[in-house]
Amino acid sequence: MRLTGKVAIISGAASGMGAATARLFAREGAKVVIADLLEEQGRALAASIGPAARFERLDVTDEASWAAVVAAARQHFGRLDILVNNAGISGSAEQDLYSTEAWHRIMTVNATGVFFGTKYAVPAMTASGGGSIVNLSSIAGIIGSDGIHMAYNASKGAVRLMTKSTAVQHAKDNIRANSVHPGVMPPMLTSGRTADPEVRAKRMNVIPMRRPGEADEVANAILFLASDDASYVTGTELVVDGGAVAI
Ligand code: NAD
Repeated sequence: MRLTGKVAIISGAASGMGAATARLFAREGAKVVIADLLEEQGRALAASIGPAARFERLDVTDEASWAAVVAAARQHFGRLDILVNNAGISGSAEQDLYSTEAWHRIMTVNATGVFFGTKYAVPAMTASGGGSIVNLSSIAGIIGSDGIHMAYNASKGAVRLMTKSTAVQHAKDNIRANSVHPGVMPPMLTSGRTADPEVRAKRMNVIPMRRPGEADEVANAILFLASDDASYVTGTELVVDGGAVAI
């Protein structure tokens, strides 16, 4: 088991890749705080995992909410070793690609949410002797995208660079920080404009492996970076995209 004795907070863990990561972390021996806006789904997931998991309501855009979740992790599990900043919203459902409201909403959840998570996790990790922060960016944080609100690219690009600053600033505290960049995942193929069969076919054609990724394939990458297997890995970006940005 690769996370024995470690305590992790995963934001946005009630569904998707966050939920897959929560299950995997628990199987690897971690205590996991499932932190999300979705209370019913989050509680059900925690119950299905058992005593190694606990649900806490988190709104990543709210500093007080982050402070409370980090405090709860320390109170119930005694320490904090891992933060997975996974919560995020997509830009693919926007009709108006120049909506100012969408710009602020997407930037606040995807970028400010990661800033707040880092802000509250770092002191708790420092108190535990160090830790690992894994931030969910996207291939859209590396290359441009057609047909989605550019706030998604901007926010995921911000996550990529915030990760590197965190790595540089907190190496002295024994805290590592890395970003994970999923490519096309199943939800992306069924939501907003990307549900269009033509757009979907275009997306598949630019993936050398010719298939979308699976949540567990991203969770495995997150596990590596969170664990001591990655003890000399910090400030890097791990792309999990079937080769899409290699072209
Ligand atoms: P998802 O929509 O299945 O899950 C995201 C979770 O975040 C949800 O449970 C949601 O309730 C939660 N969330 C949203 N806003 C929140 C807030 N303000 N506070 C707390 N929780 C909040 O998403 P997913 O597809 O599993 O994506 C996970 C991460 O990976 C996201 O950051 C996403 O941008 C990124 N990503 C997704 C894809 C994709 O194709 N799905 C591709 C690349 C990157």
